[in-house]
Amino acid sequence: MARVFNFGAGPAVLPVEVLERAQAEMLDCDGTGMSVMEMSHRGKKFVSIAEKAEADLRTLMGVPDNYKVLFLQGGASSQFAMIPMNLKALSSSGAADYLNTGHWSEKAVAEGKRFVDLNLVADTKPSKYTTLPSQGDLKFNPDASYVHYTPNETIAGVEFGYIPETGSVPLVADMSSTILSRPVDVSKFGMIYAGAQKNIGPAGLTLVIIRDDLIGHADASVPAMFNYKTHAENGSMYNTPPSYAWYIAGLVFEHLLANGGLSKMAEINERKAKKLYAAIDGSDGFYRNPVDVNARSWMNVPFILKDDALDKPFLAESEKAGLAALAGHRSVGGMRASIYNAMPEAGVDALISFMQDFAQRHG
Ligand code: PMP
Repeated sequence: MARVFNFGAGPAVLPVEVLERAQAEMLDCDGTGMSVMEMSHRGKKFVSIAEKAEADLRTLMGVPDNYKVLFLQGGASSQFAMIPMNLKALSSSGAADYLNTGHWSEKAVAEGKRFVDLNLVADTKPSKYTTLPSQGDLKFNPDASYVHYTPNETIAGVEFGYIPETGSVPLVADMSSTILSRPVDVSKFGMIYAGAQKNIGPAGLTLVIIRDDLIGHADASVPAMFNYKTHAENGSMYNTPPSYAWYIAGLVFEHLLANGGLSKMAEINERKAKKLYAAIDGSDGFYRNPVDVNARSWMNVPFILKDDALDKPFLAESEKAGLAALAGHRSVGGMRASIYNAMPEAGVDALISFMQDFAQRHG
């Protein structure tokens, strides 16, 4: 059996140690004689797995006590609607500010418009999402119910290097593709959410970290399952939670804590990203990353080849070399290397060597 280096954007690579642990516990988790997949979510064993996962995440991210951590389903995409449904009434204006900086913020905006009086405080679409606004460009409405943004855009590969300052208006962040990549000050956010399938664990789990005072403002017409209050009051077990994904996420949190936590991750991630961008920039134009240097993502690195006729051979040869899933998103083409926490530095080194060799042979 040979594992490849998987550069997919999500579902994405998981730490080998986590997969091995899951394998070892597959048939009999800790003397229970069953897989975590088969256990009641209300049983003692699963409840202890769930509680440990939450406690470890709180330690990893330094989540303050006045925030709830919710383990939900529906993907980050469901949050695009749940956010306005739950937070619209935080102010009497019924208005919300959104930053449109890529494919995923665009989707959040489209969904938000169905519920709130939505104002775009930034829109980088004219740059084809290759730039980001600076703090000085952002003029927020002090009467807005909340501000929504996407700190890392998975497709264009742009990432904010700062947290927008929104005063007393709660800041809501879609951290799907950057959560756990570095330390963040959770207290600067009203709410953080993420689909799990990049840096957290398997698809099917959606993490929500929300400040207590933002819970309980949904209109009476909001269905129970779409109300944060329901999940907060029931420890994310109002209905059957995504129990196996929750368990794997817990193994990932434990693994990160055992390996130096988020500051160590940041150090490694920065190094991995810098060397990959350096290889692209140093290729004499054979490869090109279209993103503004200040907006480059540590997690998703898109690059184009000097001639798109080379895309097919690049993909075929890289696949043969054990470098999987490098095709760019269908909306932008070219290549994209997603280098999440679980992508070993050796994987980035192997990609760089392959790119240099390929450029030499096709240059
Ligand atoms: N936001 C971002 C930044 C994403 O990268 C993705 C998925 N790639 C989504 C939202 C949508 O997530 P989901 O598929 O979990 O709904």
